[in-house]
Amino acid sequence: MYQNNIAFAKQLDQEDALKKFRLQFHIPLHNNKEVIYFTGNSLGLQPKTTTGYIQEELNDWAKYGVEAHFQAKKPWFSYHELLSEKAAKIVGALPSEVVLMNQLSVNIHLMMVSFYRPTAKRYKILCEAKAFPSDQYVLETQVKFHGFNPETSIVEVSPREEEHCIRTEDILSAIEKNKNELALVMIGGVNYYSGQVFDMKTITEAGHKAGAYVGFDLAHAAGNIKLELHNWNVDFAAWCSYKYLNSGPGSVSGIFVHQQHAHNDFPRFAGWWGHEKETRFLMQKGFKPMDGAEGWQLSNAPIFSMAAHLAALDVIDEAGMDALIAKSKKLSDYLEYVIDEIGEPLEIITPRNKNERGCQISIIAHGKGKDLFNKLTENGIIADWREPNVIRMAPVPLYNSFEDVFRFGEILKNSL
Ligand SMILES: *Cc1c(COP(=O)(O)O)cnc(C)c1O
Repeated sequence: MYQNNIAFAKQLDQEDALKKFRLQFHIPLHNNKEVIYFTGNSLGLQPKTTTGYIQEELNDWAKYGVEAHFQAKKPWFSYHELLSEKAAKIVGALPSEVVLMNQLSVNIHLMMVSFYRPTAKRYKILCEAKAFPSDQYVLETQVKFHGFNPETSIVEVSPREEEHCIRTEDILSAIEKNKNELALVMIGGVNYYSGQVFDMKTITEAGHKAGAYVGFDLAHAAGNIKLELHNWNVDFAAWCSYKYLNSGPGSVSGIFVHQQHAHNDFPRFAGWWGHEKETRFLMQKGFKPMDGAEGWQLSNAPIFSMAAHLAALDVIDEAGMDALIAKSKKLSDYLEYVIDEIGEPLEIITPRNKNERGCQISIIAHGKGKDLFNKLTENGIIADWREPNVIRMAPVPLYNSFEDVFRFGEILKNSL
């Protein structure tokens, strides 16, 4: 169905209903030519509208000073509310289940303060092996903080020998095996390394059946794949906004707390921005959390990074997640095809099953070292290298083209 030539790639671009969105992004240049940017899974590109959104807040700050909390065109006091509805759509949540605050690793800690409360009997956390390092450190130090031993408290599920992805059945049997001690299941919705999409619905059901809470790190999932956190009954989730959500380096993170926990009297680490809105400025003793995800906020909003996030969310909203996902599948399928056409020594480690992957394809270049990757870079490709020999590529539907994929294949072939 696919063809490995430029005319065919251009034809696909011609037929692409989302092709105009590429023009709404700044594409970095290499030797005065646009790069082939395949690292939207690491740092998404900048929408051209971002400057205007941030400038508006700078202007209101200049014009009103502190009064901008109420006088700004988009009052800072409630700025985060502008983001919740749009972010909720992306993760399949009710607006009240989502809030934007802090950064990702911080938010995972805050979520765990509420959802990981180990007892002598139930103290284990189940996660995927080789999770993103920050997540590993969060889990390790949370366990130690509660006085437990990471060696015996963290259950990691690995791929089977000779395999690169983790089988759902192996996750389910690990849950079953540890069900009496299991306090929390905490997995990355999409594994950052292999690009594997986990079956979050099935895992959530199994975790709940075992009597554990279930949460997901959606850093590589938000803005990438179809999410239905509310319907799946996920307890909590957190994600960053600078990968597929294009909101700039270190930009504000999102959290999800399921509605069923909205009024729950969870233990939490609190700050004034989570205190009920009506009495927040009375500055009185006694923390009274707002209902819903907002009750987990600590600090007043980082307006500039929220402005960048709002600019990016508006672009995604205009394109629509369903259309983006449809194009994303096609781009990744084409990339898979182009890599298969090259064949040896390349091995795709991302699932071949299209429902188990999003934007990303990861390959092992057997017998090839960093010099292969350096050649790609010299030829204007920005991809991602992981020692010893894995290359990750994310063709992103908002700004990557089928021509990008074809040209990438040519350069890769010539570099080998
Ligand atoms: C990108 C990423 C992070 C980064 O965390 P920050 O706190 O934003 O630096 C953490 N976890 C996962 C799974 C990631 O993909």
